[in-house]
Amino acid sequence: MHGVIIGLANDQSLAWGCAQALRRQGATLALTYLNDRALPHVEPLAQSVEADIILPLDVSRADQMDALFDEVARRRGKLDFLLHSIAFAPKEDLQGRVVDSSPEGFAMAMDISCHSLIRLARLAEPLMREGGSILTMSFYGSEKVVPGYGLMGPVKAALESTMRYLAAELGPQHIRVNALSTGPVKTRAASGLSHFDALMERAAQDAPLHQLVTIEQVGEMAAFLLSDQARYVTGQTIYVDSGYNILG
Ligand code: NAD
Repeated sequence: MHGVIIGLANDQSLAWGCAQALRRQGATLALTYLNDRALPHVEPLAQSVEADIILPLDVSRADQMDALFDEVARRRGKLDFLLHSIAFAPKEDLQGRVVDSSPEGFAMAMDISCHSLIRLARLAEPLMREGGSILTMSFYGSEKVVPGYGLMGPVKAALESTMRYLAAELGPQHIRVNALSTGPVKTRAASGLSHFDALMERAAQDAPLHQLVTIEQVGEMAAFLLSDQARYVTGQTIYVDSGYNILG
């Protein structure tokens, strides 16, 4: 299996749990890093999973996106899976009320965290001639109001809906598209959220399994969904959250 993983920042990233699990399944990986500052953190991880394509990708840069898929086409000739594990919102918009969010901040969060999935899927489609699997990462704040999740709630709701439309449109080409909705994990992206520690505490206390999820568990589920074993699963938001989402 040949795959592209987008969203690796460091060894706490959900994408890192996924990269390790996918490599254990024998996948050949292409990884990206946001910018030069991220490279020293990403490079050693990329080496340890023997990724032979490591390219810069800021999803607001069309030229970098084209370069990534050109390289994948040239080196592999095909693509089996794509993992989209990124999110961003400007701090003042993220930490304030949704009511007060700026049009620019909202648009940027939507563009980087949601529309980027559409752009990536469009570039992946011609390389997934034999079918493929696309996975994005979401959170329960998409459907319920979670204190401190703010602007990312509506953005993740749009992301999950986008995932379903892509699944419907790409299904005839046997390209599956799903979202993994994970419980809270302490990562760099999560550290930008206010009340995140309280969220972790609630999740650990109240979730039916009374345990926080780890990037290893997220990785195992991602590897399953991206593999052929999940070949009849598409258009779904699947929870890896110790059961938290079933609570009223
Ligand atoms: P992380 O900080 O490790 O990863 C976020 C990634 O987004 C980073 O690699 C960063 O470089 C990337 N990114 C941001 N702006 C980008 C841009 N313009 N172009 C390309 N990449 C960009 O944090 P994480 O928690 O592993 O986040 C991964 C995904 O998981 C996100 O979609 C996040 O919303 C989602 N998620 C996280 C949690 C959690 O509790 N950590 C829970 C549910 C869902």
